[in-house]
Amino acid sequence: LMRTGPAQQSTVCPYACQRRTTTANKNKRFTDALEVLVEYHELTEIEGPRVAYSRAASVLKSLPWTIESMGGTEALPCVGEKTRTLIQEILQYGRSFEVEKILADERYQTLKLFTSVFGVGPKTADKWYRRGLRSFSQILADPDVQLNRMQQNGFLHYTDLSRGLSAAEARAVEAVVGETVRTVAPNARVVLTGGFRRGKEFGHDVDFIVTTAEPGRENSLLPLIMGRLEEQGLLLFQAHHPSTLALKKIPCRRFEAMDYYSKCFLILKLEGSRVQGGGQAVPAGRGWRAVRVDLVAPPIERFAFTQLGWTGSKQFERDLRRFARVERNMLLDNHALFDKAKFLAAVTEKDIFAHLGLEYMEPWQRNA
Ligand code: ATP
Ligand code: MN
Ligand code: MN
Repeated sequence: LMRTGPAQQSTVCPYACQRRTTTANKNKRFTDALEVLVEYHELTEIEGPRVAYSRAASVLKSLPWTIESMGGTEALPCVGEKTRTLIQEILQYGRSFEVEKILADERYQTLKLFTSVFGVGPKTADKWYRRGLRSFSQILADPDVQLNRMQQNGFLHYTDLSRGLSAAEARAVEAVVGETVRTVAPNARVVLTGGFRRGKEFGHDVDFIVTTAEPGRENSLLPLIMGRLEEQGLLLFQAHHPSTLALKKIPCRRFEAMDYYSKCFLILKLEGSRVQGGGQAVPAGRGWRAVRVDLVAPPIERFAFTQLGWTGSKQFERDLRRFARVERNMLLDNHALFDKAKFLAAVTEKDIFAHLGLEYMEPWQRNA
């Protein structure tokens, strides 16, 4: 049995991109509680505590031991007084009163419910809450609520999409997308990214990067792929965002969550027969389920930056960018790495880690 000791704590690095974090979280009882606090501050759009609690949760996820006493927790990076109080409460009473209060809060419950719909963000959810709306049926019955196309499809496919996907279902989606791309663009390449590349067993969608070696061709790939999915009767919803790369100045001074590449957010029909193990997840009598799929098509010379940026986790990405800025005075985003005005080229993710002077982390070690 591993015990917390000063020797171990001194080895915990302050940035997630310096820690190897697998999906085997040994401190889930604490990180689940912290994630409620993160979500609460995310939903109410309060930045400071959200950042602090996500960093603390990420440190606890990376520990190779389970916290069993307060001894040594003060030496952990990013774990402040409030987090230590929470750990202590959970150790002592098995639960946190602050977390229980949030879980019982009507506003939290309602915002969480509303944002679980595809296309509904914290702003829309809050607007509906302030109108007095508390349930899906009230939203759908309100003549003054205007749903956009994304939200309409979010409600239409709610049951399927809110269930998430298994790794087996993600593999089945990968086969469908792979076949489709080979049909319309035999020279293009599709690679899995996002949570399933990190080895997660469950995810809310499946993410892919599509590239071609022919310069400029990447911009026509996604419409071709969507066209073919449509012909096969598999396209339930699509939102396509053409590339805005040509319009933007790189490096951009401000980090933006959205990147400039051609991308599409899809809802696809996944046939049960395609899922290894029979597709028990598919509703009886229907033979298919709806799944969320994201595709991004960067120019080939930006592939490594896109892959690093889209593999996640979100906390790993945030810390990677912060590390580049604070520790190296460099600028990293999904498009490029800059040292002052100098663009540092990269063919693989390993090149980017090397430019940053960081040890390479495998995708399955990035579950920060
Ligand atoms: P899950 O899908 O299971 O919730 P995930 O880690 O795959 O987990 P996603 O929301 O699919 O989460 O995002 C995967 C990665 O892609 C994240 O690191 C995120 O920063 C990046 N990403 C997602 N959407 C965009 C976007 N529109 N622009 C830029 N980057 C994005
Ligand atoms: Mn994903
Ligand atoms: Mn995604």
